[in-house]
Amino acid sequence: MLDDLLSRNRGWSATRISEEPGYFARLATRQSPEFFWIGCSDSRVPANVVAGLDPGEVFVHRNVANVVHSSDMNLLSALEFAVEALSIREIIVCGHYGCGGVRAATEDLPHGLADHWLEPIRRLSRSYAIDLTQCASLEEQRDKLAELNVVEGVRRVSETPILRRAWARGEPVKVHGLIYGLKDGLLRNLDCTVSRGIFEEGEGK
Ligand code: ZN
Repeated sequence: MLDDLLSRNRGWSATRISEEPGYFARLATRQSPEFFWIGCSDSRVPANVVAGLDPGEVFVHRNVANVVHSSDMNLLSALEFAVEALSIREIIVCGHYGCGGVRAATEDLPHGLADHWLEPIRRLSRSYAIDLTQCASLEEQRDKLAELNVVEGVRRVSETPILRRAWARGEPVKVHGLIYGLKDGLLRNLDCTVSRGIFEEGEGK
């Protein structure tokens, strides 16, 4: 399996070099991505691939169910580096329909450590219980919860001291919320963008 992976890597590297001889030399000197992506670890939602971006174009943090914990040093370190060192101005929180993490948060089963990790989603499902019961099916309910989790993630990123400092410096950083459809490969804008600490369009969904 590993030999196969290494062989595919050699093929990919050779193709890249044949397409652009200076490709790796250019990328090796510096990265200047335009986007910081906070997404789910799900193997079907790789940031570069679904956004149609090349290496060097998106700085990425992924975790189970793209949860934004305000005390997650991993995420906060990446966020700070993205905003302050890489001067990224477009931050994307991206969830996806059919998310296993969201499903786990709605189940009455023990999932070990994941139950701690997914607690904010469980809390969201309690807060929006009335809205969620209006969904036609359990699948639709979970997809709605995945959207709410993205909107909440946008809100939490926007409330970090990192973003507040950036906005106080007058930097035009925006935090967007997108959701990806596994069934059609499309990204949808949830229209919950926050710019300079203010929701740009509505109050989210
Ligand atoms: Zn997921």
